[in-house]
Amino acid sequence: MSAPTVDLMDYSDVIARFEPVLGMEVHVELNTATKMFCGCPTEFGAQPNTQVCPVCLGLPGSLPVVNQKAVESAIRIGLALNCTITPWGRFARKNYFYPDQPKNYQISQYDEPIATNGHLDVLLDDGSTFRVEIERAHMEEDTGKSVHIGGATGRIHGASHSLLDYNRAGVPLIEIVTKPITGAGERAPEVARAYVTALRDLLKALGVSDVKMEQGSLRCDANVSLMPIGATEFGTRTETKNVNSLRSVEVAVRFEMRRQAAVLAGGGTIVQETRHFHETDGTTSPGRRKETAEDYRYFPEPDLEPVAPDAEWVEQLRGTIPEYPWLRRARIQSDWGLSHEVMRDLVNAGALDLIIATVDAGAPANEARSWWVAYLTEKAKEREVPLDELPITPAQVAEVIKLVDAKSINNKVAKQVVDYVLAGEGDPAQIVEAKGLGMVSDDSALQAEVEKALAANPDIADKIRSGKVQAAGKIVGDVMKATRGQADAARVRELVLAACV
Ligand SMILES: [Zn+2]
Repeated sequence: MSAPTVDLMDYSDVIARFEPVLGMEVHVELNTATKMFCGCPTEFGAQPNTQVCPVCLGLPGSLPVVNQKAVESAIRIGLALNCTITPWGRFARKNYFYPDQPKNYQISQYDEPIATNGHLDVLLDDGSTFRVEIERAHMEEDTGKSVHIGGATGRIHGASHSLLDYNRAGVPLIEIVTKPITGAGERAPEVARAYVTALRDLLKALGVSDVKMEQGSLRCDANVSLMPIGATEFGTRTETKNVNSLRSVEVAVRFEMRRQAAVLAGGGTIVQETRHFHETDGTTSPGRRKETAEDYRYFPEPDLEPVAPDAEWVEQLRGTIPEYPWLRRARIQSDWGLSHEVMRDLVNAGALDLIIATVDAGAPANEARSWWVAYLTEKAKEREVPLDELPITPAQVAEVIKLVDAKSINNKVAKQVVDYVLAGEGDPAQIVEAKGLGMVSDDSALQAEVEKALAANPDIADKIRSGKVQAAGKIVGDVMKATRGQADAARVRELVLAACV
């Protein structure tokens, strides 16, 4: 539930009096098949405590081993963020007791992170860019999950008991921390959202995470403080935890700015604390007082070798960094000659990458776009799944388009073929073959159907012969029906008219 009524300053007054300073901390769960320090699977949604072993449960005598794929992903993320990759760095133990942390410490990185000192130029709504400086990206392991039973909202408050699920304990995480973001002024909330958006898109393009904020594979904490205009010393900051949608990032930052401004203007002081964000009304409420680094008694992890990526490997990974998604979008928009609005709709519909992949598989851009935004979007809505979770690949869509262009099937049959693909019956060409859906292109077979239809409708045949060519529609319809829709209607029409000369 939200906190008691909080005083808020009007946003324009906040901006007139204060300069906001932001700091963003984003945790991203990597999509490696196994955990950070053991071979347990990482799949989301399994039965509780079925993906655990002595290492991730922290049982005495068990020893961790670093997941190489996770290190590779960490380096690629660091490179994509223009960071320096450390040639030698150790893991550290972060000591704290919390029930969802079975070892009573978390293996993290402290003063020797894998990547430091980078930046990301993020795109704002008006097309301008804002540079966000990156302090560090480091590797760590995720905690388990507490499930509180009996309370009204799944929170610990009011719960009768709590259950622990350690499936997530030990899943590889990368924490990406910005340097203080200053100079954004009134656009600070927008910059925060644009930064997390850019980071999400970049991580997705890197293929290192499924970046689903709603499933917690991308989690964002927003640090906010205010200082009077003209001051140089930062104010005390609060950290709003686990803001779980892009829009909420913007809402949470704006709310904290207005709340802190009201406290400061009223002569109060800001308490350094974590705060909870409430999705329902866009407010924050106090959490725990913030621990300092000393509270965690960090020390180098004695059970693990240092990570020392050799320069050649790092350079090789640098070659795998993709074009920034927003630059790629701008390039494609201009290549395809699309308006800003059409492009935005494609992106919002989650169709852009699918269309690009379909074009890469050999389909013309217009046809690829039309399939994904029309018929397939409709199918995704019917099934209530995101477009990219439909069981059809861009290559299969490109194959359907090729079959139509080659006049092997017509547009109507193409939809049936797509339905069969969605039903899991195989690839388009196989389906056309197996179901006998190929277009009847044999003129003599069509000719016979035309003769039959004309013979069955002598009055219409007479009309056509007397020059009323619009009457041919009925005959064409009958032939299409007789061929189960598998004929080329234009060709049938030609044959009908030819037969009536
Ligand atoms: Zn394990």
